[in-house]
Amino acid sequence: MPICFDLDGTLGHFSSGFVLLREALGDLWGGAPTAEDLGRCGGSTDWEIVDALHRMRFGRPLDEPGYAAYEGACIARFEAAFRPGGQEAVAFQGILAGLHRLAGRGPVWLVSGNAPRLLDFKAQVLGIDPAIPRLGSLPHHDRATLLKLALRGCGGPHLYVGDRPHDLAAAQAAGMPFLGIGPAVPGGHRILAQDAAADHLVAAVEATLQATP
Ligand SMILES: [Mg+2]
Repeated sequence: MPICFDLDGTLGHFSSGFVLLREALGDLWGGAPTAEDLGRCGGSTDWEIVDALHRMRFGRPLDEPGYAAYEGACIARFEAAFRPGGQEAVAFQGILAGLHRLAGRGPVWLVSGNAPRLLDFKAQVLGIDPAIPRLGSLPHHDRATLLKLALRGCGGPHLYVGDRPHDLAAAQAAGMPFLGIGPAVPGGHRILAQDAAADHLVAAVEATLQATP
């Protein structure tokens, strides 16, 4: 087992995140991709999204130095926007408390589409224990491949907790059950509200794991 959590929309949110991503690329590429460009991207990880935008703009795939440059520019934008006294992230306090309670009992991971340093920054802002391992968006990996990396060498049952259809799809591709946060992913799985209490998260995780063969 690990129990894996997505970050954005699952543990909290950083409302202007996609604006900052486009601005960061604008700094690097001499013009920001539009919201429409972003909407045309497949995939749910930073590597997939920035690679798709790079192909649209330059007609060739993103390379790893280009991804590192994006990560640095994006971190700078986030640090400036979410500095003390600036914009405030929204933390889902009950879900976060439940995550920490679960992490006291067994393996818990953050598996997110954010580039690794951006994931570190957001996790710090949300007050997530640095001892909880983090797996952010790596070059040439989609979300399901990241989940499989987190599961490597661990026995089941596993679980992915997420807020979007792409999280459910990745869980299914990785052979994991899914627990939804918020209303965006209908289906037969359990769903918790963003303001659910820690007890409710822990109970829903336990019930999902017990129902998993
Ligand atoms: Mg999410």
